[in-house]
Amino acid sequence: MIFGSHVSIRDGYLGAAKRAVANGASAFQYFPKNPRSLSVKDFDRGDANSCKSFCFERNMVSVAHTPYSTSLTPSKDKQELTIASLVNDLEIADACGSIGVVVHFGSQISKTDPLASYHLMLEMLNSVLSDWNGDCLLLIENNAGTKGALGTTFEELVQIRNLCDYPEKIGFCLDTCHAFASGLWNGENTEEFFKKGEELAYFDHLKIIHLNNSKYPTGSKKDRHANIFGNGYIKESQMEMFVKSPLLEEIPFVLETPDDEGISHKEEIRQLFDKWGE
Ligand SMILES: [Zn+2]
Repeated sequence: MIFGSHVSIRDGYLGAAKRAVANGASAFQYFPKNPRSLSVKDFDRGDANSCKSFCFERNMVSVAHTPYSTSLTPSKDKQELTIASLVNDLEIADACGSIGVVVHFGSQISKTDPLASYHLMLEMLNSVLSDWNGDCLLLIENNAGTKGALGTTFEELVQIRNLCDYPEKIGFCLDTCHAFASGLWNGENTEEFFKKGEELAYFDHLKIIHLNNSKYPTGSKKDRHANIFGNGYIKESQMEMFVKSPLLEEIPFVLETPDDEGISHKEEIRQLFDKWGE
């Protein structure tokens, strides 16, 4: 099993990888640049290369996450900026040897034209990926359903990838809190959930799991992550059935849980290995 967490890059990319090792992780996620800005970062290639070799030697998997304000359905004035930012994220992640860059599915932009958001997403994806020839994939993450409930079903995720001009450059990131909050996975339908995803070939392109519990019940559409073995609404037995699915055997699980609510990521990663490591 591959377990890890989101880590800070305050000591650079190599520093982030070292922090993950110190936490006992075998995978990690990081922001390739300031998560509060979409501006293009002139990054330190030497540091990124050191991160890449360090991870390669230790079999450590890494993945980048786009800044908070990145949207695949941005307003007109933000489109150029977003495309440049996404290409920049891919360049940094590729230099660090990461498997991909996680980006959230878009949100609803028109109440009268339900297809407008999907059209814009495809335009954005095509613009970003037309010039991208690195190994790093763009990994589309399922939504919790907060803004217009877009990107909450397997059908949409699979279809957006298929309709893009460059499906081979796209993979998926599955967030367990978002899946639970949206109702895609309600804790009780685990078998059907995996069966449906498998039928639609979703799991063929799944590259990473965001392993999070949920502070709100299933169907709440609220994106609030909780610690795995704390007071979240996903029961341990439900989480176990999910994590132990044979379909996820090779997939890295990365925590995006609170690090300051009674348990550190280091301790939480140890719990994961103790319970489900074999
Ligand atoms: Zn997530």
